[in-house]
Amino acid sequence: MKTNMRLGLVMIVFSALVFGTAALAQQQQQQQAQPPQYRQQPAPIALEKIADNIYQVNGGSGANAGVIIGQKEIMVVDAKMSEESARQMLDEIKKISALPITVLTLTHSDGDHVNGITAFPADIKIWAHEETKHYMDEAFKDEKQRAYLPAIKTFASGGPEYDLGGRKVELLYFGPAHTSGDIVVYIPEEKVVFLGDLYFAGRDPLVHRHKNGNSFGLVKVLQSVLALDVETFLSGHADKATRADIEGMIQTLQEKQAKIKTLVAEGKSLEATLESFGLKETPPAQEGRPRFMNLVEVIWLELMESTFKKK
Ligand SMILES: [Zn+2]
Repeated sequence: MKTNMRLGLVMIVFSALVFGTAALAQQQQQQQAQPPQYRQQPAPIALEKIADNIYQVNGGSGANAGVIIGQKEIMVVDAKMSEESARQMLDEIKKISALPITVLTLTHSDGDHVNGITAFPADIKIWAHEETKHYMDEAFKDEKQRAYLPAIKTFASGGPEYDLGGRKVELLYFGPAHTSGDIVVYIPEEKVVFLGDLYFAGRDPLVHRHKNGNSFGLVKVLQSVLALDVETFLSGHADKATRADIEGMIQTLQEKQAKIKTLVAEGKSLEATLESFGLKETPPAQEGRPRFMNLVEVIWLELMESTFKKK
């Protein structure tokens, strides 16, 4: 009897351990299946030195951000996803430079790049593409966030050159890609660019059709970026990348586009096209979140649209 009870107890402890571990693994898997910006318990904010006075901001909630320190002032690239993370980022920057943070450049309008805007001083200068401001105007409901909208200076093509006191930063627009308002922040002297979400590593790039993004545009924009004198490519959700990484992403993307083009020409349905990539249609969006279409679906729709336009 006693032995049985002990055995029972051992069994209970054992199964709790096994199932507990399984549940934890499942939870971790679920978290990893989500886009990085929705994962919980982010790593603390840390500045990674990229070049002389240029840093990538890792950790916190939302996408990687950037810091460019000039001779007189500091530009921050992207604003993290929460006020708390953005505030921690500003605190970390203060630890490495006493210069004022005077300008914020937004690479595009996604929440994980802009929602922390309220941590910035009220008199901050903000640069964004005009489409980005438009999407932020649509998305911002909170009065505290909306208060920053009038401060956003925009441009539609080309882009301004910004002088941080002896340090030149170019804000460039090459057309719709991840969204219709992506800008590239280029520091020619150091051969560094901040790409926002124009580059992804180890996964398909995200193209937001609901923000007029375009996969063929993405190829064109990345080719334009490669035409610049750049060696280091920083982005929202990957480690720093090289020219070969960008070329590799373009090649993979073009191969996918070519394969889907053949399938569309053969009259394949979306379902059949997805199937040939071992995919199913993306489930409908969860409440309060956009529906992230997979890249195959995006390309199929783009090709169908251009087929119909021609006819
Ligand atoms: Zn994005």
